[in-house]
Amino acid sequence: PQPLQVREIEFKNVYFRYSEDSPDVLKNVSFTLNKGDRLALVGTTGSGKSTIIKLLAKTYTGYRGSIKINGIELTDIPIAQVRETISVMQQDIFMFNNTVEFNISLGRESISKSDVEQAASFVFANHFINQLPGGYEFVIQDNGDNLSKGQAQLISFARAIAGNSELIILDEATSAVDSLTEQYIQQAIANIFSLKTVIAVAHRLSTIKNSDMILVLEDGEIIERGNHNEL
Ligand code: ATP
Ligand code: MG
Repeated sequence: PQPLQVREIEFKNVYFRYSEDSPDVLKNVSFTLNKGDRLALVGTTGSGKSTIIKLLAKTYTGYRGSIKINGIELTDIPIAQVRETISVMQQDIFMFNNTVEFNISLGRESISKSDVEQAASFVFANHFINQLPGGYEFVIQDNGDNLSKGQAQLISFARAIAGNSELIILDEATSAVDSLTEQYIQQAIANIFSLKTVIAVAHRLSTIKNSDMILVLEDGEIIERGNHNEL
């Protein structure tokens, strides 16, 4: 399926619980995002940030209220089309026991080797990749065991960028990384933000500063919204 050209994302009075007999973990969540907007989600652990992302990516269905892309209810958009449209960088990064190149392209036919290298450069992953034995042919172990957490993050950024998705979602990891990798990650996030419509779960102040709307969640509710100067 063709990706949707994202013009507008709208959450309206969204409620969600993971099972019938458990409490709502999202309550009355409403916000609108237009093409080119950069939204940051912040809030304490368990406040519902990743859940918002998982609903938008159709990882879970069965919400109450309305979630629309370009005015179309998400339940009416096939999951395959959602996957073409939205690229999600999860908190837990999945790595295949395969080359760096494969882990960026994911074997997608439309993505050439030079697309992979361009995406890696764009997110500052090329520096460490070129130092690996074999470079892009270096074989990553299951779970990315032979990469640092920061390196795995940079590869997941390149994976998201290479896909040319209309909407990038970043569930930022909190894991400690060395200071050089941290600099690359910050620059990569700034680059990603410059390019796309982005939703980021933000832990770094630099990510929050790069966004133009911030939603603060607490216990499943949006308790504050505004830009970096207002909050
Ligand atoms: P963190 O900052 O720790 O990543 P978060 O804001 O992303 O937190 P969510 O993962 O959205 O929080 O979780 C919101 C609530 O939903 C929490 O109470 C959590 O325990 C619950 N929850 C999350 N995933 C599931 C699941 N798969 N099944 C049941 N409950 C879940
Ligand atoms: Mg989370």
